[in-house]
Amino acid sequence: MTVTFLGTGTSSGVPMIGCTCPVCRSLDHRDHRLRVSVHVAVAGRSFVIDSGPDFRQQMLRARVAHLDALLFTHEHKDHTAGLDDIRAFNFRQQQDMPVYGEPRVLAQLQREFAYIFAEHKYPGIPRLTLHPIERDDAPFDVLGVAVQPLRAMHHRLPVLGFRLGGFCYLTDANAIGPETMEQLRGAEVVVLNALRREPHLSHFTLAQAVEILEEVRPRRAYLTHISHQLGRHHDVEAELPASIRLAYDGLMVEV
Ligand SMILES: [Zn+2]
Ligand SMILES: [Zn+2]
Ligand SMILES: [Zn+2]
Repeated sequence: MTVTFLGTGTSSGVPMIGCTCPVCRSLDHRDHRLRVSVHVAVAGRSFVIDSGPDFRQQMLRARVAHLDALLFTHEHKDHTAGLDDIRAFNFRQQQDMPVYGEPRVLAQLQREFAYIFAEHKYPGIPRLTLHPIERDDAPFDVLGVAVQPLRAMHHRLPVLGFRLGGFCYLTDANAIGPETMEQLRGAEVVVLNALRREPHLSHFTLAQAVEILEEVRPRRAYLTHISHQLGRHHDVEAELPASIRLAYDGLMVEV
């Protein structure tokens, strides 16, 4: 399995519009973060988790020419805004795109992208098939690949992460229950969100994420959904244990 980090930034992206802080002015490419998303190539399949506002640019940059399915962690706009650009894959593949998410998330997509689901469709709009994830306590099948949902809380919003084989991806969370901790424990690679150092209502801080990772002890861990407030990539990584790295856009990980 090959995982490519398509975006590792918080909802505003890094740099943030108009900001002149040292992180936003950094020339290090690792400090340039599009909105969070990953591509997973597994068992001959090509999946993307979340299609934020940078989706098109991410597909072009990572040269993703074929996509088999799209999975959603939750309905926040920084994870869904790019959905319209799925059209490119509809045209190329001459197929509807399978989309997986919790029923609440799919209902929100139907509201926010009402034209996609209109009875009389304008030609050329995205074509999707919706696959509700009904249970968080059992794996679901995505075109022959077993995907285990990972339940977490994002302030008051229940969200999902996903486990595929030895790879766990959990962004936008600030609380993880014992069942999900158990799922993370056996994994080889764990991706977790770490927004900044200061406390936040709905995201783990750097210290909180490190504490969880030191408890579940994966072989390798990567932090994502990073704010410009966290500091420069180079400086933050120097403080971290060797097995915990900051993800950056374009990073590829073999699992
Ligand atoms: Zn987010
Ligand atoms: Zn800044
Ligand atoms: Zn969110």
